[in-house]
Amino acid sequence: MSEFRKDPILERWVIVATNRSQRPGAFIESQPFDPTLPCPFCRGHEDETPQEVLALRDGKSASDWRVRVVPNKFPCLNLPSTSSEQQAGEEGPLRPSGITYERIDGFGAHEVIVESPRHVFSTSDLTLEELTDVFRAYKMRLARWQADGRMAYGQIFKNAGQAAGASLEHAHSQLLVTPMVPIGIANELAGAQEYYRQRDRCVFCDMICAEIGEGSRLVVETAHHIAFAPFAARLPFETWVLPKRHASHYEQIEETSLGDLAGILRELICRLEAAAGRCAYNYILHTAPLGTSAAAHYHWHIEIVPNLARTAGFELATGYYINPIAPEVAAERMRNVPESRTAE
Ligand SMILES: [Zn+2]
Ligand SMILES: [Zn+2]
Ligand SMILES: [Zn+2]
Repeated sequence: MSEFRKDPILERWVIVATNRSQRPGAFIESQPFDPTLPCPFCRGHEDETPQEVLALRDGKSASDWRVRVVPNKFPCLNLPSTSSEQQAGEEGPLRPSGITYERIDGFGAHEVIVESPRHVFSTSDLTLEELTDVFRAYKMRLARWQADGRMAYGQIFKNAGQAAGASLEHAHSQLLVTPMVPIGIANELAGAQEYYRQRDRCVFCDMICAEIGEGSRLVVETAHHIAFAPFAARLPFETWVLPKRHASHYEQIEETSLGDLAGILRELICRLEAAAGRCAYNYILHTAPLGTSAAAHYHWHIEIVPNLARTAGFELATGYYINPIAPEVAAERMRNVPESRTAE
Protein backbone atom coordinates (compact mmCIF):
# COMPACT_ATOMS: atom_id res chain seq x y z
CA MET A 1 0.00 0.00 0.00
CA SER A 2 1.28 3.44 -0.80
CA GLU A 3 -0.17 6.93 -0.76
CA PHE A 4 0.64 10.44 -1.92
CA ARG A 5 0.83 13.05 0.86
CA LYS A 6 1.07 16.79 0.30
CA ASP A 7 3.15 19.07 2.50
CA PRO A 8 0.77 21.95 3.37
CA ILE A 9 3.51 24.61 3.28
CA LEU A 10 5.49 23.71 0.15
CA GLU A 11 2.76 21.74 -1.63
CA ARG A 12 5.52 19.14 -2.15
CA TRP A 13 4.26 15.61 -2.69
CA VAL A 14 5.75 12.68 -0.82
CA ILE A 15 5.06 9.01 -1.51
CA VAL A 16 4.68 6.94 1.64
CA ALA A 17 5.48 3.39 0.47
CA THR A 18 6.07 1.12 3.44
CA ASN A 19 6.81 -2.02 1.35
CA ARG A 20 10.08 -0.41 0.24
CA SER A 21 11.61 -0.66 3.72
CA GLN A 22 12.04 -4.41 3.11
CA ARG A 23 14.35 -3.92 0.14
CA PRO A 24 17.92 -5.13 0.73
CA GLY A 25 20.22 -2.20 1.52
CA ALA A 26 17.22 0.09 2.03
CA PHE A 27 18.83 1.69 5.05
CA ILE A 28 22.33 3.12 5.27
CA GLU A 29 24.52 2.07 8.16
CA SER A 30 26.68 4.79 9.62
CA GLN A 31 30.37 4.28 8.81
CA PRO A 32 32.89 4.87 11.63
CA PHE A 33 35.64 7.50 11.31
CA ASP A 34 39.32 6.57 11.44
CA PRO A 35 40.19 6.86 15.18
CA THR A 36 43.91 7.44 14.45
CA LEU A 37 43.27 10.80 12.76
CA PRO A 38 44.14 13.85 14.93
CA CYS A 39 41.21 16.08 15.95
CA PRO A 40 41.56 19.89 15.69
CA PHE A 41 38.34 20.45 17.67
CA CYS A 42 39.52 18.83 20.93
CA ARG A 43 40.57 20.90 23.96
CA GLY A 44 44.28 21.81 23.71
CA HIS A 45 44.26 21.90 19.88
CA GLU A 46 42.94 25.48 19.61
CA ASP A 47 45.86 26.62 17.42
CA GLU A 48 44.89 24.06 14.75
CA THR A 49 41.76 26.00 13.80
CA PRO A 50 41.41 29.55 12.41
CA GLN A 51 41.15 32.21 15.14
CA GLU A 52 37.88 31.95 17.06
CA VAL A 53 35.12 34.50 16.49
CA LEU A 54 33.20 33.53 19.64
CA ALA A 55 33.92 31.42 22.70
CA LEU A 56 31.74 30.77 25.74
CA ARG A 57 34.25 30.28 28.54
CA ASP A 58 34.60 30.28 32.31
CA GLY A 59 38.28 31.14 32.70
CA LYS A 60 40.83 33.13 30.73
CA SER A 61 43.17 30.49 29.29
CA ALA A 62 42.93 29.63 25.58
CA SER A 63 41.81 26.07 26.25
CA ASP A 64 39.25 26.97 28.95
CA TRP A 65 36.14 27.06 26.75
CA ARG A 66 32.74 25.40 26.65
CA VAL A 67 31.64 26.17 23.07
CA ARG A 68 33.81 27.77 20.36
CA VAL A 69 32.92 29.29 17.02
CA VAL A 70 35.67 29.46 14.39
CA PRO A 71 35.67 30.34 10.68
CA ASN A 72 35.54 27.20 8.53
CA LYS A 73 39.08 26.26 7.44
CA PHE A 74 37.73 25.37 4.00
CA PRO A 75 34.96 27.97 3.65
CA CYS A 76 32.63 27.83 0.69
CA LEU A 77 32.02 31.58 1.13
CA ASN A 78 34.24 34.45 2.33
CA LEU A 79 33.95 38.15 3.03
CA PRO A 80 36.35 40.17 0.86
CA SER A 81 39.33 41.08 3.05
CA THR A 82 39.52 44.65 1.70
CA SER A 83 37.12 46.61 -0.48
CA SER A 84 39.85 47.15 -3.11
CA GLU A 85 39.96 43.41 -3.70
CA GLN A 86 36.42 43.46 -5.04
CA GLN A 87 36.65 43.31 -8.79
CA ALA A 88 33.79 44.42 -10.94
CA GLY A 89 35.01 42.40 -13.92
CA GLU A 90 33.75 38.99 -12.76
CA GLU A 91 30.35 40.18 -11.58
CA GLY A 92 27.15 40.61 -13.49
CA PRO A 93 25.55 38.65 -16.30
CA LEU A 94 27.53 36.94 -19.03
CA ARG A 95 25.95 36.84 -22.46
CA PRO A 96 27.14 33.90 -24.54
CA SER A 97 24.76 33.46 -27.49
CA GLY A 98 21.88 35.44 -26.02
CA ILE A 99 21.34 33.52 -22.80
CA THR A 100 21.85 35.40 -19.51
CA TYR A 101 23.83 33.45 -16.94
CA GLU A 102 23.95 35.34 -13.66
CA ARG A 103 26.85 35.15 -11.28
CA ILE A 104 28.19 37.11 -8.34
CA ASP A 105 31.33 36.62 -6.28
CA GLY A 106 31.12 34.04 -3.50
CA PHE A 107 30.41 36.55 -0.73
CA GLY A 108 29.42 35.56 2.79
CA ALA A 109 30.72 33.67 5.78
CA HIS A 110 31.09 30.05 6.82
CA GLU A 111 31.58 29.31 10.51
CA VAL A 112 31.93 26.16 12.59
CA ILE A 113 30.39 25.81 16.05
CA VAL A 114 32.48 23.35 18.09
CA GLU A 115 29.91 21.97 20.51
CA SER A 116 32.14 20.59 23.28
CA PRO A 117 35.84 20.51 24.23
CA ARG A 118 35.37 16.73 24.71
CA HIS A 119 35.80 14.37 21.76
CA VAL A 120 32.14 13.34 21.47
CA PHE A 121 30.08 12.74 18.35
CA SER A 122 26.33 13.04 18.51
CA THR A 123 23.97 15.58 20.08
CA SER A 124 22.97 12.74 22.41
CA ASP A 125 26.57 12.66 23.77
CA LEU A 126 26.44 16.32 24.84
CA THR A 127 25.39 17.34 28.34
CA LEU A 128 22.31 19.50 28.67
CA GLU A 129 24.56 22.42 29.68
CA GLU A 130 26.74 21.98 26.58
CA LEU A 131 23.77 21.82 24.24
CA THR A 132 22.24 24.90 25.93
CA ASP A 133 25.50 26.75 25.19
CA VAL A 134 25.35 25.56 21.58
CA PHE A 135 21.87 27.08 21.18
CA ARG A 136 23.15 30.25 22.92
CA ALA A 137 26.03 30.44 20.40
CA TYR A 138 23.55 30.09 17.47
CA LYS A 139 21.57 33.00 18.91
CA MET A 140 24.68 35.16 19.36
CA ARG A 141 26.09 34.49 15.90
CA LEU A 142 22.75 35.12 14.15
CA ALA A 143 22.41 38.39 16.13
CA ARG A 144 25.95 39.28 15.05
CA TRP A 145 25.13 38.82 11.37
CA GLN A 146 21.78 40.53 11.79
CA ALA A 147 23.68 43.61 13.12
CA ASP A 148 26.19 43.38 10.23
CA GLY A 149 23.45 44.46 7.83
CA ARG A 150 25.04 43.12 4.60
CA MET A 151 23.67 39.59 4.64
CA ALA A 152 20.24 38.16 3.84
CA TYR A 153 20.32 34.78 5.55
CA GLY A 154 22.10 32.82 8.28
CA GLN A 155 21.67 29.07 7.75
CA ILE A 156 22.58 26.91 10.75
CA PHE A 157 22.87 23.19 10.16
CA LYS A 158 24.53 20.11 11.55
CA ASN A 159 26.01 17.11 9.79
CA ALA A 160 26.44 14.23 12.25
CA GLY A 161 28.18 11.15 10.87
CA GLN A 162 29.98 10.55 7.59
CA ALA A 163 26.84 9.57 5.69
CA ALA A 164 25.36 12.97 6.61
CA GLY A 165 28.36 14.80 5.15
CA ALA A 166 30.49 15.38 8.27
CA SER A 167 34.25 15.44 7.56
CA LEU A 168 35.19 15.39 11.27
CA GLU A 169 33.44 13.27 13.89
CA HIS A 170 33.92 15.71 16.81
CA ALA A 171 30.46 17.23 17.51
CA HIS A 172 30.09 20.46 15.55
CA SER A 173 27.56 22.43 13.58
CA GLN A 174 27.90 25.12 10.93
CA LEU A 175 26.61 28.57 10.03
CA LEU A 176 26.54 29.62 6.39
CA VAL A 177 25.78 33.33 5.93
CA THR A 178 24.69 34.37 2.43
CA PRO A 179 23.75 37.60 0.65
CA MET A 180 20.58 35.97 -0.75
CA VAL A 181 17.81 33.89 0.85
CA PRO A 182 18.28 30.18 -0.04
CA ILE A 183 15.60 28.79 -2.38
CA GLY A 184 14.37 26.19 0.15
CA ILE A 185 13.67 28.92 2.70
CA ALA A 186 12.23 31.26 0.06
CA ASN A 187 9.77 28.53 -0.99
CA GLU A 188 8.85 27.81 2.63
CA LEU A 189 8.30 31.53 3.31
CA ALA A 190 6.15 31.85 0.18
CA GLY A 191 4.07 28.78 1.09
CA ALA A 192 3.55 30.04 4.64
CA GLN A 193 2.66 33.51 3.33
CA GLU A 194 0.04 32.05 0.96
CA TYR A 195 -1.50 29.95 3.76
CA TYR A 196 -1.66 33.08 5.93
CA ARG A 197 -3.25 35.10 3.12
CA GLN A 198 -6.00 32.52 2.72
CA ARG A 199 -6.72 31.74 6.38
CA ASP A 200 -5.22 34.58 8.42
CA ARG A 201 -3.35 32.02 10.54
CA CYS A 202 0.20 30.68 10.78
CA VAL A 203 0.44 27.25 9.13
CA PHE A 204 2.99 26.10 11.73
CA CYS A 205 0.73 27.16 14.65
CA ASP A 206 -2.12 25.25 12.95
CA MET A 207 0.15 22.17 12.61
CA ILE A 208 1.14 22.32 16.30
CA CYS A 209 -2.51 22.50 17.29
CA ALA A 210 -3.42 19.59 14.98
CA GLU A 211 -0.51 17.39 16.12
CA ILE A 212 -1.24 17.94 19.83
CA GLY A 213 -4.93 17.19 19.20
CA GLU A 214 -4.40 14.14 17.01
CA GLY A 215 -1.33 12.74 18.76
CA SER A 216 -0.24 9.95 16.40
CA ARG A 217 2.80 11.84 15.07
CA LEU A 218 3.75 13.50 18.36
CA VAL A 219 7.13 12.44 19.79
CA VAL A 220 8.01 14.75 22.72
CA GLU A 221 6.47 17.84 24.30
CA THR A 222 8.14 20.15 26.84
CA ALA A 223 7.04 23.42 28.52
CA HIS A 224 8.03 25.58 25.55
CA HIS A 225 8.60 23.21 22.60
CA ILE A 226 7.06 20.36 20.66
CA ALA A 227 8.57 17.64 18.45
CA PHE A 228 6.57 15.63 15.92
CA ALA A 229 7.01 13.68 12.69
CA PRO A 230 5.49 15.89 9.95
CA PHE A 231 2.45 14.53 8.06
CA ALA A 232 4.34 14.60 4.74
CA ALA A 233 7.73 13.49 6.10
CA ARG A 234 10.22 13.11 3.22
CA LEU A 235 12.42 10.52 4.85
CA PRO A 236 12.15 7.81 7.56
CA PHE A 237 12.15 9.25 11.10
CA GLU A 238 12.15 12.89 9.91
CA THR A 239 11.01 15.10 12.82
CA TRP A 240 10.50 18.82 13.46
CA VAL A 241 10.97 20.80 16.68
CA LEU A 242 9.03 24.06 17.08
CA PRO A 243 8.46 26.61 19.85
CA LYS A 244 4.83 26.30 21.01
CA ARG A 245 4.47 30.07 21.10
CA HIS A 246 4.55 31.78 17.72
CA ALA A 247 7.95 33.31 16.89
CA SER A 248 9.47 33.98 13.45
CA HIS A 249 13.10 34.78 14.39
CA TYR A 250 15.19 32.22 16.29
CA GLU A 251 17.73 34.84 17.45
CA GLN A 252 15.00 36.43 19.58
CA ILE A 253 14.56 33.26 21.68
CA GLU A 254 14.46 34.06 25.41
CA GLU A 255 17.51 33.02 27.45
CA THR A 256 15.11 31.08 29.71
CA SER A 257 13.91 28.92 26.76
CA LEU A 258 17.39 27.80 25.63
CA GLY A 259 17.60 25.01 28.22
CA ASP A 260 14.12 23.75 27.30
CA LEU A 261 15.09 23.67 23.61
CA ALA A 262 18.32 21.80 24.42
CA GLY A 263 16.28 19.34 26.48
CA ILE A 264 13.78 18.50 23.75
CA LEU A 265 16.41 18.18 20.98
CA ARG A 266 18.62 15.98 23.13
CA GLU A 267 15.73 13.72 24.09
CA LEU A 268 14.57 13.56 20.46
CA ILE A 269 18.01 12.48 19.19
CA CYS A 270 18.25 9.91 22.01
CA ARG A 271 14.84 8.52 20.99
CA LEU A 272 15.84 8.54 17.29
CA GLU A 273 19.05 6.62 18.04
CA ALA A 274 17.24 4.13 20.27
CA ALA A 275 14.49 3.53 17.67
CA ALA A 276 16.53 3.63 14.44
CA GLY A 277 20.09 2.90 15.62
CA ARG A 278 22.97 5.37 15.85
CA CYS A 279 22.52 6.67 12.34
CA ALA A 280 24.01 9.68 10.62
CA TYR A 281 21.65 12.67 10.58
CA ASN A 282 21.35 16.32 9.68
CA TYR A 283 19.46 19.02 11.47
CA ILE A 284 18.60 22.37 9.95
CA LEU A 285 17.42 25.52 11.72
CA HIS A 286 14.82 27.32 9.63
CA THR A 287 14.32 30.91 10.76
CA ALA A 288 13.18 34.16 9.14
CA PRO A 289 15.74 36.04 6.99
CA LEU A 290 18.15 38.53 8.56
CA GLY A 291 17.03 42.14 8.48
CA THR A 292 13.30 41.33 8.44
CA SER A 293 10.77 42.27 11.12
CA ALA A 294 8.61 39.84 13.11
CA ALA A 295 6.35 37.89 10.72
CA ALA A 296 2.89 36.57 11.61
CA HIS A 297 3.04 33.92 8.87
CA TYR A 298 6.46 32.38 9.66
CA HIS A 299 7.48 30.26 12.65
CA TRP A 300 11.08 29.16 13.23
CA HIS A 301 11.74 25.43 13.63
CA ILE A 302 14.42 22.75 13.46
CA GLU A 303 14.08 19.94 10.91
CA ILE A 304 15.88 16.73 11.87
CA VAL A 305 16.53 14.40 8.94
CA PRO A 306 18.24 11.04 9.57
CA ASN A 307 20.32 9.63 6.72
CA LEU A 308 18.72 6.20 6.66
CA ALA A 309 17.40 6.04 3.13
CA ARG A 310 19.25 6.76 -0.08
CA THR A 311 17.76 9.28 -2.44
CA ALA A 312 18.27 8.46 -6.10
CA GLY A 313 17.16 9.17 -9.64
CA PHE A 314 13.51 9.02 -8.66
CA GLU A 315 13.80 12.02 -6.32
CA LEU A 316 16.07 13.91 -8.74
CA ALA A 317 13.71 13.23 -11.62
CA THR A 318 10.39 14.04 -10.01
CA GLY A 319 11.11 16.01 -6.85
CA TYR A 320 8.93 13.44 -5.02
CA TYR A 321 10.47 11.71 -2.04
CA ILE A 322 9.60 8.10 -1.31
CA ASN A 323 9.34 7.48 2.41
CA PRO A 324 9.33 3.77 3.33
CA ILE A 325 8.25 4.39 6.95
CA ALA A 326 4.99 6.23 7.64
CA PRO A 327 5.55 9.15 10.05
CA GLU A 328 2.92 7.71 12.42
CA VAL A 329 4.94 4.48 12.68
CA ALA A 330 8.23 6.36 13.16
CA ALA A 331 6.68 8.58 15.87
CA GLU A 332 5.23 5.58 17.69
CA ARG A 333 8.62 3.81 17.71
CA MET A 334 10.30 6.94 19.07
CA ARG A 335 7.59 7.43 21.74
CA ASN A 336 7.92 3.81 22.87
CA VAL A 337 11.63 4.01 23.68
CA PRO A 338 12.07 3.15 27.39
CA GLU A 339 12.76 6.20 29.60
CA SER A 340 16.10 4.69 30.66
CA ARG A 341 17.44 5.14 27.12
CA THR A 342 16.48 8.82 26.89
CA ALA A 343 17.94 10.01 30.21
CA GLU A 344 21.57 10.98 30.85
ZN1 LIG B 1 37.94 15.97 19.02
ZN1 LIG C 1 3.18 30.21 14.25
ZN1 LIG D 1 11.45 24.30 7.40
